[in-house]
Amino acid sequence: MKLIEGVRGMRDLLPAEAGAWRQIETAAAECFGRYSYGEIRTPVVERTDLFRRQLGLQTDVVQKEMYAFEDQGGDSLCLRPEATVPTVRAVISLVRARGGTTRVWYGGPMFRRERPQKGRYRQFWQMGAEAVSAGPPAPEIDAEQIIMLARLWRDLGVAGRLELSLNNLGSADERAAYRDALGKYFRSHEKDLDEASKARIDGNPLRILDSKDPKTAAVAQNSPRLADFLGKDSQRHESGVKEIISAAGIDFVDSPMLVRGLDYYNLTVFEWTLTGDERRQNALCGGGRYDGLSEQIGGPPLAGCGFALGLDRLAALCEEAQGEFAEDAPDCFIAAAGAGASYCMRAAETLRESGLSVWQHADGGKLGKQLNKADSINAALVVIAGSEEEQRGAVAIRRMKDGRQEEIAIENAGAFARKMLKEETKEAP
Ligand code: AMP
Repeated sequence: MKLIEGVRGMRDLLPAEAGAWRQIETAAAECFGRYSYGEIRTPVVERTDLFRRQLGLQTDVVQKEMYAFEDQGGDSLCLRPEATVPTVRAVISLVRARGGTTRVWYGGPMFRRERPQKGRYRQFWQMGAEAVSAGPPAPEIDAEQIIMLARLWRDLGVAGRLELSLNNLGSADERAAYRDALGKYFRSHEKDLDEASKARIDGNPLRILDSKDPKTAAVAQNSPRLADFLGKDSQRHESGVKEIISAAGIDFVDSPMLVRGLDYYNLTVFEWTLTGDERRQNALCGGGRYDGLSEQIGGPPLAGCGFALGLDRLAALCEEAQGEFAEDAPDCFIAAAGAGASYCMRAAETLRESGLSVWQHADGGKLGKQLNKADSINAALVVIAGSEEEQRGAVAIRRMKDGRQEEIAIENAGAFARKMLKEETKEAP
């Protein structure tokens, strides 16, 4: 029978990769924790209505990428395409009860039925953070998130590969006036636009600014600028954010074309992109303010700011920086050389009791073959359990690096193995 394949655009992460991802996730969780963000976990399945209007009826995500279905009870549900809206839904009551700002981070799979390619998947992973406030939008929040991300990039050794773009989308009213002007401008240049952009003139002309089509991009270059439509409050917010991040030593590029794909943003929007490779999917992390979102989903007026980073792309970048991900090597390999299976298992458990990782060989074979196996998985020590050692209540421990081998009573094997490993790291150059 033919092997049943996985779903297109959805990947398995095998131990080498999953282990590296866990380290990245741990570094991010630890970094976010230093800024007093606490973890939140929301369901993978949500009501389809939660996303439709909030992300924007005209966006690709809502129009063609949602995994939506009717469940057995007739409810219209979907696999979450992002986690900002669910997170805001989940914290509304907390923010109401506590006042001030609630800071949370999340991590998990998101689902969009995009055309798969390198760096773009249908199930992909995001980590993100959201700060939702009962008070007015404070530039400190936006700036702190940017500073937090810059720290994470440094912690992961990828800061040099990333560039920060910033834009100010203003308020909903300012944007509406701008949208009108932009719609009129693009209408007057309609013949020079690509087909997808033509279709966006009435519904979402801001998205035309994002177009990768060269002719459309040339038209967009001379389009009206949102900056000319911004009022005092929006300008003040922007300069507040820029002042704090500049003082923190963070470089950024002003990007008037940066509008972000989803509809709920206002004021600050930002994106970290990969420098030096135009061909690949280079957006690594995007975010911004969404002060109207809570009300849009039926909550009270709350200010909010957040971001999502793409873990698939971040992990690929870390792999470029660190070298190919490898599976963790075990500290000890138990070679069964004549001792009974339960004695071997006892030796393994004794070592594990001391906090060591142990590979219990279970595939038989001569000692030489087992040593080859231990070598191939990079085990640091081989613990040989032969029948004579068993009779003496001992095991022989061999250090693979230099062949040093000693017999030790089984009850002392853990402490002894640890000592041998420690000497090994001390001796290493
Ligand atoms: P967004 O939620 O669209 O603002 O995306 C935030 C980040 O998630 C992007 O910068 C990407 O790094 C990542 N991302 C979005 N869509 C995908 C996808 N289909 N596959 C892999 N990563 C993605």
